[in-house]
Amino acid sequence: MGIQNLLWQVTKKAFTGGIIGVTISDRCCSVVPVRGDSMSPTFNPQRNSYLDDYVLVEKFCLQDYKFARGDVVVFSSPTHFRDRYIKRIVGLPGEWISSSRDVIRVPEGHCWVEGDNKASSLDSRTFGPIPLGLIRGRVTGVVWPPQRVSKINRWICLEMGRLFVIDLQGETYSCKHCHTPFALTDDLISKSFHCKHGRAYLFENVVNVTVGEMEHRIMMTGWHTVADIFCVCCGSLVGWKYEIAYEKSQKYKEGKFIIESRFKVLGPDGGGYDMNEDEPMIGSDEE
Ligand SMILES: [Zn+2]
Repeated sequence: MGIQNLLWQVTKKAFTGGIIGVTISDRCCSVVPVRGDSMSPTFNPQRNSYLDDYVLVEKFCLQDYKFARGDVVVFSSPTHFRDRYIKRIVGLPGEWISSSRDVIRVPEGHCWVEGDNKASSLDSRTFGPIPLGLIRGRVTGVVWPPQRVSKINRWICLEMGRLFVIDLQGETYSCKHCHTPFALTDDLISKSFHCKHGRAYLFENVVNVTVGEMEHRIMMTGWHTVADIFCVCCGSLVGWKYEIAYEKSQKYKEGKFIIESRFKVLGPDGGGYDMNEDEPMIGSDEE
């Protein structure tokens, strides 16, 4: 009798604990594993790793279904309800999105989701915008394995209302923070520029940036009218565009772009900084 009683007490405790656990997991948050590499490098950066990331998913966002562009969310597959996906919200209701085929408007009550690893992700580019009602929570951080514990940042896109990310074919320089491609190596004019934070590259053409206000700046090579440029996806300041050069010898820079290399851009080989100091400084445009 004593043993039966003890068993019952233990079972009851475990059961009540279980129910509380389930309720917490259902209403507040849960921890889920991330499978596959569709969100790499944000999750599972090492391909074929046996240690998948586990992420914390909060569910308070489901009370009013208020999401922001850049949120990483867990949602039920629109085709197989039991399957869950983790992707990033790229477009909100009413926004314009350029998919591979054409430009579409995200309908009310829907959002556009894409994996961070575009090459290996099944997302809105395949199944179109998803109803917000399919979202099961927002990912706030990686909780396992220990060396990967980190907060998940929301990338905010500056160009409100529409986001066109142009894919570049070939070797590219891309944003160090969000890997959005900026320029082709073919468009690199010079690596011999200098800016406040070190070396900078001059490009013939740069894409996926927003151009800020024009302003006059005195640089080492004289007066220029320039405008800062920002990554269209994460909003980082990445460099500037030369609008007007007032010195005759500097006119060649007009309409061209500077990208600060050290902290802002990933080279085609994944390197962030060119250490070759031998090149002559043809245009040291330090502010
Ligand atoms: Zn970026």
